[in-house]
Amino acid sequence: MSTAPQTAYDPLYDPLKDATPGHGREYAPTYWVDSAGPAPEDDGPIRADVDVEVAVIGSGYTGLSAAVHLARDHGISAVVLEANRVAFGCSTRNGGQGQFATGRLKRSGWIDRWGVDIARGMHAECMEAFDLFRSLLAEPLVQPDAVDDGHIYAAHRPWALEKLKAEVQVLNDVFNYPAKVLTAEETREQHFFDRECCGAQFEPDGVAVHPAKYAFGLLRLARSLGVKVHPSSPVQGWRRQGDRYILSTPGGDVRAKRVIVATAGYTAPGLHALTRHRLFPILSNSIVTRPLSDDEIADCGFKSGAFYTDTRILRHYYRFIASAKRVQIGSRSAVYGRDAANPKHLARLRGALGRKFPALDGIDLDYSWWGWVDVGHDMMPRIFKPDANEHIYYSLAYGGNGVMYSAQAGRRVAALCAGQAMPALPIFQSVLPTEGVLTPFRRLGQQLLYIWYFTNDERP
Ligand SMILES: Cc1cc2nc3c(=O)[nH]c(=O)nc-3n(C[C@H](O)[C@H](O)[C@H](O)COP(=O)(O)OP(=O)(O)OC[C@H]3O[C@@H](n4cnc5c(N)ncnc54)[C@H](O)[C@@H]3O)c2cc1C
Repeated sequence: MSTAPQTAYDPLYDPLKDATPGHGREYAPTYWVDSAGPAPEDDGPIRADVDVEVAVIGSGYTGLSAAVHLARDHGISAVVLEANRVAFGCSTRNGGQGQFATGRLKRSGWIDRWGVDIARGMHAECMEAFDLFRSLLAEPLVQPDAVDDGHIYAAHRPWALEKLKAEVQVLNDVFNYPAKVLTAEETREQHFFDRECCGAQFEPDGVAVHPAKYAFGLLRLARSLGVKVHPSSPVQGWRRQGDRYILSTPGGDVRAKRVIVATAGYTAPGLHALTRHRLFPILSNSIVTRPLSDDEIADCGFKSGAFYTDTRILRHYYRFIASAKRVQIGSRSAVYGRDAANPKHLARLRGALGRKFPALDGIDLDYSWWGWVDVGHDMMPRIFKPDANEHIYYSLAYGGNGVMYSAQAGRRVAALCAGQAMPALPIFQSVLPTEGVLTPFRRLGQQLLYIWYFTNDERP
């Protein structure tokens, strides 16, 4: 049996304000949780003090992948601690877009920041990650309705198409990667009829998954390997005693020799000094329509199983869920948790849906939810041991691109925790940066940036 929730979902939760993401909370009201079938069995809350080799905090894709690889590759049976229901955070709320990316920077951004050689190393890391992702999706215990039809970057303005063309050139010439540019007509004939789309970049590596089925599959896989997964077990205190870290949960202390932090956008500032103010949690909201009629589907022109993002900085991510005949679309929304339920955010998303697909203007929505994305201050993740004197490891800050890469990140952080060396790439070589003295003004800065991004995105 899966552990039942003890408390209701809190739609106004804010990771910069609340001490933990809750205790035993129900899932967010997503289409994915509703359509995934019953959650698999777990190991129930921590009920007594326990000694463990490795404790993993957070049971999303990262924490579960770390536990799977600790067991498979290193013979270590970890204990996973989750504050709420298993995979309560982003891993049951996302768009299911398994993109060929990690972090927010594009390939050209990697070259600008690190030069061509390191950028090629990062590209190879993403290729290896995609192989692992595909192999996990194919595991008999996982199988999350994967659709392996690629990713469409839809240019929402003509100037954005010019940027996509330049990026495709970089992908072809520097990385020998077969991305291609599609005209508006080709995009319409082969994929979909988004009325804003002026042409697109097509990436063959893009796998859409059912996010909650993927998370539940990883839970089944982890437990089949001897991993213990404990929901309703928030880490509320953390201290060191000799060679042990004492993680306090409501049901007892977990005394671990090593700790992996996989708490993403749900990391409270008070969790540990090594993760404090290293992340910038950003809200993303998402809606799912009622099932479409055949006429509506024809008007939207859905033809392939590719998933879509547009070229706005405040981008829309969207897809046709063919098995359910529904459309999902999401984007950035409120700045503060207390404003998350403000109807203006839903109205904005509805407006975007209607502009892209006029047949869906004003359509009934069956689901609306939101979640906290973990963005790093330099837009790239880190898989790192942040203090040489501590046995603490983190894998954080995928910047809204974690569905695919979290599998590899989990494998990497497991290897790091088991004492293996990491590749000589920047995401494995330094701590997550902070904003230093600007930390108290982050949200103010975010509000100003959103105004600037919106103005810039919508220029003709
Ligand atoms: C609305 C939305 C849409 C997205 N769409 C996409 C997409 O289409 N493609 C893509 O690549 N990425 C997307 N993302 C991002 C992606 O979902 C994440 O990168 C990924 O799920 C991160 O997984 P994770 O395991 O690192 O973190 P999470 O799944 O967020 O898990 C962290 C867990 O840690 C737990 N936790 C926190 N603190 C404690 C504590 N003190 N004690 C115990 N447990 C704790 C939380 O409860 C949570 O369950 C989206 C995110 C959101 C919110």
